[in-house]
Amino acid sequence: MCEFLLHRLLEVPDVDPRPGMKYYTQEMEEAAQGYVQFIHERLERWKAAGQSPEVFVEQRVDLRMFIPESMGTSDCVIITDHDIEIIDFKYGMHRVPASSLQLRIYALGACELFGRLYEDIGRVHMVIYQPRLGSVDEAEMDMDELYHWADEELKPRAELAFAGQGDYSVGEWCRNCRARRTCRELAAHQLEIARYEFTEPPLLSDEEIADVLSRVDDLVSWATGVKEYALQAALDGRRFEGWKLVEGKSVRKFTDDACVAARVEAAGIDPYERKMLGLTALEKKLGKKDFQNLLADLVVRSQGKPTLVPVSDKRVEMNLASVEFTAENDMKEVNENE
Ligand code: SF4
Repeated sequence: MCEFLLHRLLEVPDVDPRPGMKYYTQEMEEAAQGYVQFIHERLERWKAAGQSPEVFVEQRVDLRMFIPESMGTSDCVIITDHDIEIIDFKYGMHRVPASSLQLRIYALGACELFGRLYEDIGRVHMVIYQPRLGSVDEAEMDMDELYHWADEELKPRAELAFAGQGDYSVGEWCRNCRARRTCRELAAHQLEIARYEFTEPPLLSDEEIADVLSRVDDLVSWATGVKEYALQAALDGRRFEGWKLVEGKSVRKFTDDACVAARVEAAGIDPYERKMLGLTALEKKLGKKDFQNLLADLVVRSQGKPTLVPVSDKRVEMNLASVEFTAENDMKEVNENE
């Protein structure tokens, strides 16, 4: 959707993928629109700075110079007179920094592709646009510095890894690794947290609780991934000692809703319930402007539920004195989420 909407901004013919999209949501559309608006603003900014930006959408980049057999696709590359900008759209809720390896490597690929054509380029900008977190993260470096890093660090490590000789190193990059479900090193790392297993939470020290907090989301996500992997493997015929495949709980459902309604109505009973649309659905139906005019005074935003996040999170820390954590707040939140 991002590609299509960006092409539309740039007046490049493209086929609208939305009618056939299986997982289309309004939120997704708004996120993609925001991304396109963001690129538009970047272009205007470059133009205001006296540059002539060119945009390349879903640009394939060849990374084999640095990593054997490696290619990638960059969401958006902007080339100006002296700069190259790599913009990556992330729809996920896991924060990705602009200094991430992926973006740096894509930036290298883009430098390889365009650096020879545009000889005056010297500065590389990397941007992660992450709408569902309301986050835009930026990093930049000189092209020479980027190539120095590629020669000194990336290439030697990639060659070692490709030859199967590198050290296993667990980190946030494991999230995108194809071996993450079965990697012994990652499993050992995730299960380290099990050392707290037989200690009641109140008996853990503050340092130990902080350690659990910093790792528990990754542990849950990893364990869920292993379960999904094992289920698929079992469906493919693999057997795990002590485990078997069974049918899950099944639910009853009607085969023909219209027929059911007709029969129930004929029996003198109204089978339908009348229910007001939720806030988001009504806003969509009325349009933002009419929604605002008609209902603005009837909308409240409840205080969000307190959540513990790492200090690196960009949200402002809560003032504990102002927290009123009541059942009423909870109910408002439920209503709004509906
Ligand atoms: S999951 Fe294992 S192989 Fe993959 S990056 Fe992490 S440590 Fe390396």
